[in-house]
Amino acid sequence: MAKHKTLYEDCDVLVVGGGMAGTGATFEARHWGRDMKIICVEKANIDRSGAVAQGLYAINCYMGMQWGENQPEDHVRYARNDLMGMVREDLGYDMARHVDSTVHMFDEWGLPMMKNEKTGRYLREGKWQIMIHGESYKPIVAEAAKKSADKIYNRIMITHLLMDEAQENRVGGAVGFNMRTGDYHVFRSKTVIVAAGGASHIFKPRAVGEGMGRTWYAPWSNGSAYALPIAVGAKMTQMENRIVLCRFKDGYGPVGAYFLHLKTYTQNANGENYEKKWYDQTKELVGEYIDHHPTPTCLRNHAFIQETIAGGGPIHMVTTEAFQDPHLETVGWENFLGMTVGQAVVWASQNIDPKYTNPELTTSEPYVMGSHATCSGAWVSGPEDLSPPEYFWGYNRMLTIDGLFGAGDTVGGSAHKFSSGSFTEGRLAAKAAVKYINDQKADGIKVTDKQCEDFKVAIFKPLETYQVAQNEITGGTVSPSYISPIQGLQRLQRIMDEYVGGIATNYMTNGNMLKRGLELLAWLEEDLEKVGAEDLHQLMRAWELKHRALTSQCVTEHTMFREETRWPGYYYRGDHMKLDDDNWHCLTVSRRDPKTGKFSLEKVPVYHIVEENEKKKAS
Ligand SMILES: Cc1cc2nc3c(=O)[nH]c(=O)nc-3n(C[C@H](O)[C@H](O)[C@H](O)COP(=O)(O)OP(=O)(O)OC[C@H]3O[C@@H](n4cnc5c(N)ncnc54)[C@H](O)[C@@H]3O)c2cc1C
Repeated sequence: MAKHKTLYEDCDVLVVGGGMAGTGATFEARHWGRDMKIICVEKANIDRSGAVAQGLYAINCYMGMQWGENQPEDHVRYARNDLMGMVREDLGYDMARHVDSTVHMFDEWGLPMMKNEKTGRYLREGKWQIMIHGESYKPIVAEAAKKSADKIYNRIMITHLLMDEAQENRVGGAVGFNMRTGDYHVFRSKTVIVAAGGASHIFKPRAVGEGMGRTWYAPWSNGSAYALPIAVGAKMTQMENRIVLCRFKDGYGPVGAYFLHLKTYTQNANGENYEKKWYDQTKELVGEYIDHHPTPTCLRNHAFIQETIAGGGPIHMVTTEAFQDPHLETVGWENFLGMTVGQAVVWASQNIDPKYTNPELTTSEPYVMGSHATCSGAWVSGPEDLSPPEYFWGYNRMLTIDGLFGAGDTVGGSAHKFSSGSFTEGRLAAKAAVKYINDQKADGIKVTDKQCEDFKVAIFKPLETYQVAQNEITGGTVSPSYISPIQGLQRLQRIMDEYVGGIATNYMTNGNMLKRGLELLAWLEEDLEKVGAEDLHQLMRAWELKHRALTSQCVTEHTMFREETRWPGYYYRGDHMKLDDDNWHCLTVSRRDPKTGKFSLEKVPVYHIVEENEKKKAS
């Protein structure tokens, strides 16, 4: 242990993860907490970290209130519809009413925004999306965070939250290690804002072997945002609501600009509109939800999946018509160059010119996120002016642990935030965290050296395990006394894939499969005590795996609890194939007892606040 230096930092606001939400939180914390010590800790380097690392071509959440384009209520209705009724409307409304101001700051900071030449407004890709030249989106928001923080720590992975030993259920900071130096870092902090992104690679990806990193979602998003709070007993919500994406095959290039701006459309291998074919069958499963406009994302996936199972694949995107227009052809290619260069490379390597060949689409493996067309994450307090009592406990975006806040993919129940909404939610969380400190709620926090030392031993244990166990390697990487992070990851992915509704079963699961999945996950957890790391990079992999495994347990517990198929196309409960509004028009909330490791689950009412508020105003 002596070879790993321990470095201490005491601060007021600690931001874990410097992605979109983390940079927003760091920026806003300085605005409200002029004299406070604000630290941001990032696993990679904030200039190019998180889901926006490579850039984006569109900001997917902008109301346009200055031009009367949309109002927050409209966005709440849109997100609610897309998530089959299940969202926290207070959180969604709160984000939507502030998101435009965030986008205006991006504009001021130099993000190149496309403008409609006739109106001078931001150029719309769709009702909610505006188009940008966004290759440098991430460095631009990172600069705002760098100018705001007392210090940004790059290359440090946070592995555990510290808890206050003076007052129960209060956070005391976080610990982690530097992946380059091997130093152990202790951040004692009055508040912690977790903004560590979502989770890829908990389900087996379609691309395996050397292509394994080619997933739709960033491969470095490893579920820390969920594992950190779950481990200390924070409540989580909607963790069953994993997302499956319909994207261009193999490169996972985005389809939004294609559908919305280029007006391309999909068809089956026989050139038919297959979505229509599945209308009656879908209506049987979900009732009138199939008649909603726009069709919820999961239901469009459902038609795709059913058509493929029925032998109608491959499914194609019809690009050959739109690409005859030179302007649209340019937009089609630039769309990838600004955010998913890999898709252009895949097409080049497969001799696909979308002007002459309609490219194939696929449905991805499932991911866990809180900011896209899905809303898994932490159960947080809403804002005081909007939230009903069940949804409010003092500080906006505070988890059920005092002083612990969340934003972006971390926060559950509020879908369709995207990049701008995640940054906005970071700002909201930071404002509340500063207020929490000013209200003296963080006074007297006690974190003993013992707590810090115990974590130090636990964090570096995989290095020790490998040191000893490498002597027993029988061949290649096989040892009877340790498992490597990649071996553990592949085992986790198979369990999730085969038992919890991954691609192996066409997203199908049931109570018995989930029960078996939970047993296998429990054994994996036991074996992960023996994970070995040969260097600091593998140590990061070991901790990423542990966070993924804990996240997976929570996802599986939630999937088991919700006895209906709420989102066909994201996953199916074969033993409860229908949407069941009588029993399941509710949010699911879980808590893992940190002492026993056992999960308990409950139903919480979903309130349709927008309509209720409108009724109040009218009366
Ligand atoms: C493929 C893809 C395409 C998208 N396209 C669009 C689009 O076109 N338009 C749009 O507006 N939005 C888009 N989004 C959504 C947008 O990217 C997300 O909503 C947003 O990035 C979420 O912000 P976040 O801060 O929660 O997560 P991220 O931005 O992913 O940030 C999480 C950060 O936490 C760090 N981290 C993780 N674990 C740890 C740890 N243990 N310790 C320290 N740091 C850690 C990560 O390195 C990362 O920097 C897209 C998302 C994806 C995945």
